[in-house]
Amino acid sequence: MLPSTPDIRSRLPKMDKVLAWPEISSLQKITGHSGLKNAVRSVLEQLRTSLSSNEQPDLSPDNISTMVLARITAAATPSLRRVINGSGVVIHTNLGRSLLPVAAEAALRETAFSYSNLEFDLEQGERGERYVHVESLLCELTGAEAALVVNNNAAAVMLALSSLAQGYEVIVSRGELVEIGGSFRIPEVMRQSGATLVEVGTTNRTHPRDYINSLTEHTALLLKVHTSNFAITGFTAEVDVSTMVKIGRESGIPTMVDAGSGSLIDLSCFGIVGEATVQQYIQSGADIVTFSGDKLLGGPQAGIILGKASFIEKMKRHQLLRPLRIDKLTLAALEATLRLYRDKDKALVEIPTLRMLTISLEELSAKSRRMLRRLRSMLSDNFTLSLSDGYSSPGGGSFPLLQLPSRLIDIAVKGYTPHRVEEILRKTTPPIVGRLHKDRFLLDVRTVSESEISLLADALLQVSDYKP
Ligand SMILES: *Cc1c(COP(=O)(O)O)cnc(C)c1O
Repeated sequence: MLPSTPDIRSRLPKMDKVLAWPEISSLQKITGHSGLKNAVRSVLEQLRTSLSSNEQPDLSPDNISTMVLARITAAATPSLRRVINGSGVVIHTNLGRSLLPVAAEAALRETAFSYSNLEFDLEQGERGERYVHVESLLCELTGAEAALVVNNNAAAVMLALSSLAQGYEVIVSRGELVEIGGSFRIPEVMRQSGATLVEVGTTNRTHPRDYINSLTEHTALLLKVHTSNFAITGFTAEVDVSTMVKIGRESGIPTMVDAGSGSLIDLSCFGIVGEATVQQYIQSGADIVTFSGDKLLGGPQAGIILGKASFIEKMKRHQLLRPLRIDKLTLAALEATLRLYRDKDKALVEIPTLRMLTISLEELSAKSRRMLRRLRSMLSDNFTLSLSDGYSSPGGGSFPLLQLPSRLIDIAVKGYTPHRVEEILRKTTPPIVGRLHKDRFLLDVRTVSESEISLLADALLQVSDYKP
């Protein structure tokens, strides 16, 4: 607390007096007595600070009550909350990557609020493994011999390398030594897991002989890493998985693929081309394949490991599995998501990530017109809305070069620059994340659901009320 002069003390109303004002005391219903006292105390302290620095704060009961209410509202707002994604980036890592399919809701609720057979074998009446709930499903869907799931794909790679290559060498092409979003860099992960990285080839070209010439008696693994967030184009050469497998087998060395995003469905008929599916990696003979649960798969954050039973068995026995283990709610959501893949057409419609990626431009155009009409009916003359063409990107380290044609709503607000609109909309309830492009504020309709239109309109109407 700042020292205050008698003058300041006399101008500022006393705590007890403020608490007795009807507009303040009525707030006690929401916050309880101590919550209300804390809010009033912090507002009075803020005003005392302004007074001591010779500002002229508004000390009227009206203003003080408004400030207290703002404190209470801020304190009641959770830190992690829903936002509307108008960026058009479908698998947006900063906005939570994939939305779960509705089918996961019941599974999540049951597992969260009831006991479950998480690690209990109901047939035998004895302790079981949590991993069995998705293992056979994963094998059925991908053709893999065995499977294991962990906290995320970074954990999957870490566990696989620690189990199979600790104290040994792992051969990786120089063109694949990637960094994925800040804290996941292949050379660092390799060091952490106790394996020695052997780089082969050059940034743009790696040949089969590069792998062959680097094999030693210390080699434990050939590793292929999906170059998720960039592409090397021009004069390039890479060694495909089946060639790596052939080279490895001749020396009895397994091949592992960090597939990154990992898709179970070939999306090339939707114009999403150039990525192998997880099934293709398995068919090519990869001994281990790892990928994320919340990228193209469209499920919860998880790391999926597929492969030969003997390798998966080693990982199950490794000490790291426990710290990296998957949570029961994640497991419930993952099983529900994977079940949808038994029917490909169902998966494409019911898994939001796949639905948003594969929706046709005609459907997007119709959706954008409906959204525009409904928004216009809810907004005032201060808003000018129009439609334009643009591109969205898949995100999540999949298809780095792919641009999907999309439809955008251009939003102009009278008296506000597009930058200001963007800034204010990040702070509305709910916050809206849009895109600034060529001095226009845009919302890509691909990633906005029609069920969010009222929320969107509410947020837009808050722009003109917004006080900095
Ligand atoms: C995204 C990605 C990872 C990390 O996966 P998380 O599920 O985010 O831990 C690892 N490797 C590759 C190639 C990736 O694209």
